[in-house]
Amino acid sequence: MSATCNNIRPQENNANLNYINQEISHWRDVPAKKYTYVPKSETVFLGGGLSLLQDQLLMAGTQALGIHYISLPNPDFDSFRTGKAFGNKGQCNPTYFTVGNLLKYLIKLRDEEGVSSEEIVSKYVFVTASGCGPCRFGMYSTEYKKALRDAGFDGLRLTSFEHNKGIDQAGGETDTLIDYTPKFFITLIKAVVIGDIINILGYKMRPYEVLKGSVDSAMAECQRLVSQAFVEKKSLLKTMWQCRKVLEKVELDRLQPKPKVMVMGEFWAAMTEGDGNYNLHRFLESEGAECIPQPIISRFMLSIWEAEYLHDTKTELQTESTKRIDFSGAKTKILITLARTAIRVHFNLYARIIGLKDFEVPDIHKLSTYSREYYTLECDGGEGHLEVAHLLESLHHKLSHLVISVKPFGCMPSSSVSDGIQSLITNRYPEANFLAIETSGEGAANFYSRVQMALFKAKQATKEEFESFKIPAKIPTKVHSYRYQPKLKIAGTAAKNLASLS
Ligand code: SF4
Repeated sequence: MSATCNNIRPQENNANLNYINQEISHWRDVPAKKYTYVPKSETVFLGGGLSLLQDQLLMAGTQALGIHYISLPNPDFDSFRTGKAFGNKGQCNPTYFTVGNLLKYLIKLRDEEGVSSEEIVSKYVFVTASGCGPCRFGMYSTEYKKALRDAGFDGLRLTSFEHNKGIDQAGGETDTLIDYTPKFFITLIKAVVIGDIINILGYKMRPYEVLKGSVDSAMAECQRLVSQAFVEKKSLLKTMWQCRKVLEKVELDRLQPKPKVMVMGEFWAAMTEGDGNYNLHRFLESEGAECIPQPIISRFMLSIWEAEYLHDTKTELQTESTKRIDFSGAKTKILITLARTAIRVHFNLYARIIGLKDFEVPDIHKLSTYSREYYTLECDGGEGHLEVAHLLESLHHKLSHLVISVKPFGCMPSSSVSDGIQSLITNRYPEANFLAIETSGEGAANFYSRVQMALFKAKQATKEEFESFKIPAKIPTKVHSYRYQPKLKIAGTAAKNLASLS
């Protein structure tokens, strides 16, 4: 797999300083031999790791562009165990879940469907996100390659998105595997944005459904309609209108007081809808809560903000030292503005049509004004200052009765940095109901019991809030429509609805 690295010394040579004068040979992450790959037209791309809905929409969108892309099934405990079996020790669990999920899929292809390892390696490419860290995220690509080699798929190609470096076609392949055209990125944005909007509505509606399962059925119909629109290249605007009609048919009772819980934290742990966080969102709903999920665009907006912040800081430093303005970064600035505008425009347009009015695209600059007093903005990794900002945002705007920050066991940015700062915030704001909780892939009982304890407090607050408003003699039917979204500084949906009537 790799050329040896002479910088690594065995422990017994600790006092030996001969290495100082040696020529440095860095560790290289290359396949053991040269592999032959099928032509681009026969290549199959594997990916996934967004929400269940977004993975399906992305698959439909990319297939409409002529890319043979398959979203892997949602990672489960089997994926986790497979990841642990083939991965290095000491990784954080998103690596085990996602690496294991890929291996599980490939092993099934090989062992159950009889596709040879050689054919798999030559035909499949895995698409993933990567970065340079500063946490373990920097090791994800290498971890994939190590696990693939050990599971018998050495040479399988990876292609990765890196927010600050663009796209890396790893695996010795020099040709561009995917045409990363503006059309490709717009399709990606549409799939993610529409998925976010429908997901947010699903979380708003499900706790209040009169007929159990009716919201999930409506969402499945929306998924079918949007996927079909992607594949058949129909208008997505019209499709969102059709989805609105589907959702309007769901009967809701929106005067039930339910604690509102903001779920945030490390991106993957907070966003995944499965064993990766012990099905946290569904567990909260089963305990009578309404969730505020983190949309995927929040992560996109953070990456864009980080790129802009870095760019602006560099420009300021250059200007200070050279006393002249350097225009070389103008293109970067334009691209950053275009990306942010594209996300905002698409989100606002689709949200308005389907009837989501009280959710705005996260404004990371505004959020940074909350967190900058507590968190050094230059410090990135994980969600950077965003977790601190979310807690403060919830407190300032009364968004929820409980904020849960969920993170994989030992997550460096989230557990080690953000949670340390959160204790200062909860000290300054004693009214904050905040729970930082780790997932390890094991120990669900402990996880659930801690969530239940925090929920108890949230339920008390919800009851008091609800009872502070009078129930009018006549309730207008519009209150039960998902499209009725009064903007008031009250956390609970039922209490807010009551307050809007008085
Ligand atoms: S943010 Fe946390 S969980 Fe994610 S890669 Fe970094 S250390 Fe691991």
